[in-house]
Amino acid sequence: MYKKNDVIQLEISTLGSEGEAIGKIDGFPFFVRGAVPGDVIEAGVTKVKKNMAFARLIRIIKPSEDRVDPACPYFGKCGGCQLMHMTYDAQLKYKEEKVKNDLIRIGGIDKAEVEKAYAGIIPAKEVFHYRNKEQYPFGEDKDGNTVCGFYAYHSHRIVEQTDCLLGNEENSKILEKIKEWMSECGLSSYDETSGKGYLRHVMIRKGNLTDEIMVCLVINAKKFKGSDIFVGKLKDIPGMTSITFSSNTENTNVIMGDNSTLLWGCERIRTVIESDNGNIEYALSPLSFYQVNSKQTERLYSKALEYAELKGSETVWDLYCGIGTISLFLAKKAKRVFGVEIVPQAIEDAKANAKLNNINNAEFICGAAEEVLPAYYKDTAEKPDVVVVDPPRKGCDKSCLDTIIKASPDRIVYVSCDPATLARDIKYLCENGYALKKYAPCDMFPNSFHVEVCCLLERLRSAKDHIKISIDADDYYRIKDNK
Ligand code: SAH
Repeated sequence: MYKKNDVIQLEISTLGSEGEAIGKIDGFPFFVRGAVPGDVIEAGVTKVKKNMAFARLIRIIKPSEDRVDPACPYFGKCGGCQLMHMTYDAQLKYKEEKVKNDLIRIGGIDKAEVEKAYAGIIPAKEVFHYRNKEQYPFGEDKDGNTVCGFYAYHSHRIVEQTDCLLGNEENSKILEKIKEWMSECGLSSYDETSGKGYLRHVMIRKGNLTDEIMVCLVINAKKFKGSDIFVGKLKDIPGMTSITFSSNTENTNVIMGDNSTLLWGCERIRTVIESDNGNIEYALSPLSFYQVNSKQTERLYSKALEYAELKGSETVWDLYCGIGTISLFLAKKAKRVFGVEIVPQAIEDAKANAKLNNINNAEFICGAAEEVLPAYYKDTAEKPDVVVVDPPRKGCDKSCLDTIIKASPDRIVYVSCDPATLARDIKYLCENGYALKKYAPCDMFPNSFHVEVCCLLERLRSAKDHIKISIDADDYYRIKDNK
């Protein structure tokens, strides 16, 4: 049996669900961060459990062919990227396999069926500077100096770093100005343990094609201090459009408060999705969700639109619709779109965005999909032709899926950012009259383990329908042959 501090030699065979390397000795798995499948390494055992152990990479004895030098000096310390030490091809292969395995293992779908439904991964063209939004936590080092950056892997320790390779180039300058304002006004950073301190997080966003910049400060107070100094430092940065703050005085991991207040400029920035069907412009508030990779969003939503197979006469439900991003994409090709979203500010954005784009056939309701939808269906008995769902990582609530099943659309387009909960929900839909027809993973997050997936599920003719069809056919031949 192994014990802590043992030094072992290990060949890495695979990666776990969060990009952690796994190698086995006599069938016993060791989890090691920072290694790549194909590496032969020396590692020190850090923790031994009944069925697995953790180890720390000491040195690479023989590097894998998939290994590259990570482009960011913070790789390994910062928890943001997990796969930057792998070639992009190897990253894509890992994501393809992860989705496929989840569909088979968790989704219970036959391997041959999964392979038949696979429509290829949508790779990213840009693997750096693709993020339109970053959220930087603020804290203090042990000498009481302000630090900001990103959390270390599975921890809330801040790794100081303001020049993320994935983010907007303006971010580090904006953060410098914010630190100046804190020092001039004598403001402290938030301390999670004591719940004291002023500044919690800074969110910076930039609009695609418009280059409009939004800065929102999350503070542990109701009132904003030193706003003139603050605004004075930021407003002349090229592109600066919206400066707001959100008050969050709760002891929680949730970043934003449930409100935002304008300090300077506009409440919203504009961002654009280009499409063959004409560009769509979206106005975006601080509290609203928007996909972080603008270019890949265009590719992902084109796939969703392709899977929806709209001809112009369809009623479409878009559940978890955010600011109406997919809804408006679909509305151009459908008769009517009905969107549901839980964040009030996002629903206001969705309505404003429909107007902004002269789209009159989209309607939006604010509320939890699992509550709003059953009530809406009970009232209207509406039969949508297509249902699109794009839930957060935890997937769809059962009562939401039950309502979809009752409403029995011909097609369900499921957009997911978590293959495991996607597979769980697909299993349920497949047990209730649907089949997986096609799916395409989309690499929204190069260098990280995350992957987005777009799936098409089709309603099967029920067994009863099948029987009816075969009897009809028999009757037809009987009549034809005069039997
Ligand atoms: N389809 C949108 C948003 C997808 S992200 C887009 O592509 O931009 C998931 C969205 O679901 C977020 O906007 C989040 O606020 C919303 N949401 C989370 N829980 C929800 C729930 N229970 N009911 C409805 N919407 C929810």
